[in-house]
Amino acid sequence: MDIRDMSQDELIKIMEELNEPKFRAKQLYEWLHTHNVADYDKMTNLSKALRGKLNELYPLGNSEVAEIERSQDGTRKYLMELDDGMSVETVGMPIAFDENKKDVKRLTVCFSTQVGCPMECTFCATGQQGLVRDLSASEMVDQIIMVQDDFGERVGNVVAMGQGEPFLNYENLLLALRRMNTDPGLGIGARKITVSTCGLIDGIKRFAEEPEQFRLAVSLHSARQKVRDTLMPRCVNQPLDDLQEALIYYNLKSGRRVTLEYMLISGINDTVSDLDALVAFCDGIKCHINLIPLNRVEGSAYQPSSRSTTKAWISRLNAEMIPVSLRNSRGFDINGACGQLRSRVEK
Ligand code: SAH
Repeated sequence: MDIRDMSQDELIKIMEELNEPKFRAKQLYEWLHTHNVADYDKMTNLSKALRGKLNELYPLGNSEVAEIERSQDGTRKYLMELDDGMSVETVGMPIAFDENKKDVKRLTVCFSTQVGCPMECTFCATGQQGLVRDLSASEMVDQIIMVQDDFGERVGNVVAMGQGEPFLNYENLLLALRRMNTDPGLGIGARKITVSTCGLIDGIKRFAEEPEQFRLAVSLHSARQKVRDTLMPRCVNQPLDDLQEALIYYNLKSGRRVTLEYMLISGINDTVSDLDALVAFCDGIKCHINLIPLNRVEGSAYQPSSRSTTKAWISRLNAEMIPVSLRNSRGFDINGACGQLRSRVEK
């Protein structure tokens, strides 16, 4: 286990085993979490001998930025190289991804939770790569710290919407979210932390029971079972009826609204029947629909829906009193938009 994912009590145990006084645990915790230091040699109030032992027993992995691409809109995409040579992508956006307010000047980070992804969604570049491995909590937190350092600005919002399916890496995800949320830690408000799932029912129910006010987004993309099964083949065992029930449970248990992400693909999920099905699905759920323009993925035949279709969807949802917003796609010119992230695992 990464020492950064341990509680102060666990660090006290380590210090006891090393015959060190208890207060060393607090000092170490502060280096790791208040100062975000990932090098024992910089922890100057610990003895050299102790630093050596810690380094041997609990080496601190270091993710490194291998590449940065800058978009004209201010978005930056990072290729993070992990300790074992694998990599993931992270996106930093200087404007918040806030569903209700437009153009809030707040640094938002979209981070990855796995190297690759096993879900095989047909419209997604990551999904076409398969899963390589889960990320550790530290590898998730490091992505946030790295963007914060690069922009020289505090991160205001984070979204688990990069590569991977967060709920398939639940334990590490929660550890990471807590380190992002707490102080010492990154001190980002729980309500500024959003997890996006492809709709794993057990994960949604579990997440509903967490004490923090983290926010949930679900990639719906179709409220018609057959269509959804084609778009998201690995979600066939997560039927829409059960998903709807889980979301109502989430509403009741957490007291919070859920965001439903719906990407409009021309001729595939944007017909009037699709819209009727969506309206019916939302009945009884406290939700907010986030329409996402489809981003082109190399080798895919899917086309984004027309502007007029998108407008028609917004008017109908408005008329049905279902809150709706249209996501402003960012970082398109650097392939940093939703669904365009790829791992470079072939290296
Ligand atoms: N596995 C999680 C989080 C990663 S995907 C999930 O499924 O929610 C983040 C968001 O990008 C999801 O809503 C996903 O469906 C969407 N997405 C994937 N490919 C896309 C594409 N080509 N264009 C637009 N959005 C896409």
